[in-house]
Amino acid sequence: MKTKETVLLAVGANLGNKLQNLRNALREIKSCFDLAGVSHAIETKAVLPKNSPAAWNLPYLNIMAVCKTSRAPIETLSAVKMIEEKLGRDANAPRWSPRIIDIDIALYGKQKINTDRLTIPHPELKNRDFWQFLLEEIGCAIPKEIKLDVNNYKALNHFVLYPQFVGIVNVTPDSFSDGGKFLDPEKAERRVRKLLDDGASIIDIGAQSTRPQYIEVSPSEEISRLSPVLERCGNVDNLSIDSYFDEVVKYVLKNPNVKWINDQNSTLNPETIKLIADRNVKLVVMLRGVNFSWIDERIKYLENLGVKKSNLIVDPGIGFGKSKHENIRLIKNLKSLRQRYGCEILLGASRKSFISAHSNATPKNRDLETIATSCFAADAGVDYLRVHNVKNHMRFFVTKRCLENADLLRPGEFHEINDLL
Ligand code: AMP
Repeated sequence: MKTKETVLLAVGANLGNKLQNLRNALREIKSCFDLAGVSHAIETKAVLPKNSPAAWNLPYLNIMAVCKTSRAPIETLSAVKMIEEKLGRDANAPRWSPRIIDIDIALYGKQKINTDRLTIPHPELKNRDFWQFLLEEIGCAIPKEIKLDVNNYKALNHFVLYPQFVGIVNVTPDSFSDGGKFLDPEKAERRVRKLLDDGASIIDIGAQSTRPQYIEVSPSEEISRLSPVLERCGNVDNLSIDSYFDEVVKYVLKNPNVKWINDQNSTLNPETIKLIADRNVKLVVMLRGVNFSWIDERIKYLENLGVKKSNLIVDPGIGFGKSKHENIRLIKNLKSLRQRYGCEILLGASRKSFISAHSNATPKNRDLETIATSCFAADAGVDYLRVHNVKNHMRFFVTKRCLENADLLRPGEFHEINDLL
């Protein structure tokens, strides 16, 4: 069998939802190559020729993907061009103009290529400190002749693409850790935008606190809290609404920015569920108590009403009808949930009271304990972490990823890059 070469793909985006564009690129890369690993994502200033239009000056988000392939270099180039096209890159746009996605072959094994169509190592490798910075992260030595000093390199920002974060915004006077902070629509809007800047994939807005012993507010009260926030967030196209009222769900589904419904009660009527299915919106299925076969039944029921399994997200419901230690055992067994249901899994453990089994921190001070829990959940393969503090989660997971990546390229497996040039 032909041995596979290691290819390093530099992937960048500076238009649209950049984190999501990079995730989409990775999904496509996985379908063409064996993906062995990926760097964390860094935001960098656009590299532009002098006198470029000011509108082109949009920061890029960049990753380096480590792939194995038996495709020849030129076939690798065709594959990446196909992926760019599939993801909507405008092939006719001017050379340095902003783009949804850009995939370059930084390195291909130990090969040196210099043809009309392909230069490897990529000619820009010697100029781009941020590429060299990412190559160092994954354990790739840079040859002396082109090595830039990246020791003090400072990216504009750092992210990971996985796990994904669902930012929490409670438009309520009484939520357990942030009640009253975001009841004012202007403050809620600011919070939504901040959590997105911090790297949240979607923002879950709730107008009803479901903390233990909560007092229920009416659907019309929920709508009157939600509507000014939705209006202010008119250009934010990744919102989730946390509600179990049919009236509220029907109301918010008129808004195309609403991409998820987070139903914590499973009391929505079939008509509402069909509407969710028709709109192709994701639906979070939350377990109250510990009867896990209820989830099997619920998934079947929802599929019968037309909801695609790929649009269902299972949330084991930390804090809902479980003892503190049942919550902890559940978190320990998250891996089995993913295997059992075959759906994406969301964990909502942020600042919840099970933490008081091992910490005296007050609810709003439980982010450290939450991050420890999130670390465990991410290692178990949980897709989404629903959290209050996205910024600190991102800092934690970026560091974790960089440490994990330090020996991604095993010595000798790839090139001693010094041989290359
Ligand atoms: P761009 O997508 O703007 O980065 O430019 C892509 C073009 O650059 C391709 O059509 C290739 O023919 C050429 N090219 C030369 N070397 C490389 C490389 N190492 N990786 C990707 N494209 C390359």
